[in-house]
Amino acid sequence: MPPAPPSPPSGNPVITAVDTYDIRFPTSRRLAGSDAMNPDPDYSAAYLVLRTDAGDGLEGHGFAFTIGRGNDVQVAAIEALRPHVVGRSVEEVCGDPGTLSRVLVGDSQLRWLGPEKGVMHMAIGAVVNAVWDLAAKRAGEPLWRLLAHADPEWLVSQVDFRYLTDALTPEEALELLRRGKDGADTREAALRERGYPAYTTSPGWLGYSDEKLTRLAEQAVADGFSQIKLKVGADLDEDVRRLRLARQAVGPDVRIAVDANQRWGVAEAITWTRALADSDPYWIEEPTSPDDILGHAAVRRGVAPVKVATGEHVHNRVVFKQLLQAGAVDVVQIDAARVGGVNENLAILLLAAKFGVPVCPHAGGVGLCELVQHLSMFDYVALSGTTRNRVIEYVDHLHEHFVTPVLVRGGHYTAPTAPGFSAQLRAEAIAEHSYPDGTFWAAERAARAEEAA
Ligand SMILES: [Mg+2]
Repeated sequence: MPPAPPSPPSGNPVITAVDTYDIRFPTSRRLAGSDAMNPDPDYSAAYLVLRTDAGDGLEGHGFAFTIGRGNDVQVAAIEALRPHVVGRSVEEVCGDPGTLSRVLVGDSQLRWLGPEKGVMHMAIGAVVNAVWDLAAKRAGEPLWRLLAHADPEWLVSQVDFRYLTDALTPEEALELLRRGKDGADTREAALRERGYPAYTTSPGWLGYSDEKLTRLAEQAVADGFSQIKLKVGADLDEDVRRLRLARQAVGPDVRIAVDANQRWGVAEAITWTRALADSDPYWIEEPTSPDDILGHAAVRRGVAPVKVATGEHVHNRVVFKQLLQAGAVDVVQIDAARVGGVNENLAILLLAAKFGVPVCPHAGGVGLCELVQHLSMFDYVALSGTTRNRVIEYVDHLHEHFVTPVLVRGGHYTAPTAPGFSAQLRAEAIAEHSYPDGTFWAAERAARAEEAA
């Protein structure tokens, strides 16, 4: 057992529970989410709720996203962190999530499972994000606004600069955040008015027919999106054909990104991407292994002017640092639930700002849109100060299960107004989709048993 956290002074509310849930949605039945590497995902959340004895009814909600089998492993990793969290002062944790984040990352035995990568790190991200959800609810602010109005010195204190200072020092980060305050009020007003640009992946799943691809691509343009994305990488002739169909459907002025989901080696990534050139793809996403920094740099040189994007499987800020240092990416794709939570994403946003590389977050799955919109909106209002060449991925799946789902209108994410991180699932969703005993999965099992009988 790790050492017990210091006991807070009496009258100081504490975190009393970390309740966990294995939530799975049967998305594989509709081929929604199908790509070259993930043909049958069941979008899932290893979900947690922080409860307190503050008596204000507020809870912190957070989750790691997985695609089905293994979600139980992810839940177990969150549970392994429980002793670090229960008993801590709510005020201290919410006033300084960075300290808890360092404690979780630094667990002297659990860190062997990483360090700072994979299941354990995603568990840390889920817990840290739940703390930020609680902190924003207590402040009565949507998270984007809490961050955008935060004192730059305090934001810098929330970042772990160990391993970063060869690319970004705390002083440089402070300077970037101070500069980000110039004109922040005007940008906040613009954000509330227009929202933040989105692009849609809904037309592009590999399992969809030509008819469905064309129809959804046309619909995306009609809905106001200026970019769509297609999955590629299973069959070259098919990809050439599907991309031409999509180009015909959207016309010359809408950007089409393509996403290989790590399907290729470096040389194949270059030849395949070049073969798609006549349809003018905007970026190639995850052309190869997310760990291959020099490989991405080679692909980028080989496919220009097509841009290279990656990040949804990038483990941590250190790999992002190297991708930027190596000139390996044109687009940084943060993911709200892959790295160690808001604190680490703050580090990645600062690195991207330092290198002048646009951030276009990965989203979709379960609740990733709900979370990551807050980070991009903060970045626009109070860090990079621009939405130029920046779009948040949008996929129209599973939003109905959230208490405050994203609202995308005219190709833009509407700025959330509800306090918190938009992370909270509806109680019905938890009751139905808890695995294996929620009502949906229990009925499923009964039906199978009947078939077999
Ligand atoms: Mg992707």
